[in-house]
Amino acid sequence: MTPKLRPLLRGLPAYVPGRRPQPGQDLARLASNETPLGPLPSVIDAVARAVADGNRYPDPAAVELTAALAAKHGIDESRVAVGCGSVSLIQQMVQISVDAGNEVIYAWRSFEAYPSLVKVSGARPVEVPLDGYEHDLKRMADAVTDNTRLVILCSPNNPTGPALRAADVATFLQTVPDHVLVVLDEAYAEFVDDPEAVDGRRLLADHPNLAVLRTFSKAYGLAGLRIGYCLAGAAETASALRQVAVPFQVSIPAQAAALASLAAEEELLQRVRAVVQEREPLRNRLLEIGYDVPPSQGNFVWLPTGADTMRVAGVFDEAGILVRPFDGDGIRVTVTTAADSERVVAAARAALPAGTARG
Ligand SMILES: *Cc1c(COP(=O)(O)O)cnc(C)c1O
Repeated sequence: MTPKLRPLLRGLPAYVPGRRPQPGQDLARLASNETPLGPLPSVIDAVARAVADGNRYPDPAAVELTAALAAKHGIDESRVAVGCGSVSLIQQMVQISVDAGNEVIYAWRSFEAYPSLVKVSGARPVEVPLDGYEHDLKRMADAVTDNTRLVILCSPNNPTGPALRAADVATFLQTVPDHVLVVLDEAYAEFVDDPEAVDGRRLLADHPNLAVLRTFSKAYGLAGLRIGYCLAGAAETASALRQVAVPFQVSIPAQAAALASLAAEEELLQRVRAVVQEREPLRNRLLEIGYDVPPSQGNFVWLPTGADTMRVAGVFDEAGILVRPFDGDGIRVTVTTAADSERVVAAARAALPAGTARG
């Protein structure tokens, strides 16, 4: 007999492991919005030194890192919480805000982790369709009921790319009742260059119900080390996140890597700028070919291939380019280097005619 597990698991997506490159195979790894370069030598050194303390538990409060993040963002330490990736903090956000039967609102399509994290809690996901490629904040505000405990906004939106405008988020926060926790997932904040885009930090002082999530996985290139953080409008939110956290979830090497990365921030942000410089030229070339690629503020672009998605994804796969297809909807492609952009453009051209492509 297999154990009796929760019936709701049948409604959750199963874990699908990504493809691993075979030795000697020249794969472009553009499926997970990772940075192309490894951690800086100073970061690797810090991690190596930290491993020597591996017989000890990590600092559960991540005191040093919390202080560094508080100083960097100009916020009180009591309003900072770290987690093993911002995905973990999203799970904690659900845990601190909803009981079974409560509602969680988020846009769809958005980050693929949201539905499972919400459903497994027993809360009811309320998915508000995107308006084109962007959050429909008006409809999201209208979807709030007495049962709503959490709203998740994603800016820039993974996987479609557009960022939310600061003015629109401010209006949204004025509309939503202030007892509803609003999480603004800014996993790609460092790649944003549109001056009108939201920077959640600026709204925290006026909105205690707001919490901003950032991560070291993307811009800082530490996806494999698992570390992210929350900047909360209220100290109560940050301390609740700590209450429900898996004890010692942020490892000693992860804390050391984050601290060393903050110390080397200028060098890392230069890498980010190099990726940002690739983004619009890649989009323009894909537009020329005939793909209706929305403007992106992240380190990825979205090919809205619709019903043709799996066929087009197959063409990328044949070309040794790992991308992230969402069946029936589109393909997310990570932006990295000029060389990878060439490969993407060649594959995108070879895949024509795609469902929504003109060329
Ligand atoms: C990548 C990503 C995350 C980050 O996840 P980590 O757990 O910090 O690696 C969070 N939100 C979105 C929208 C993402 O794309």
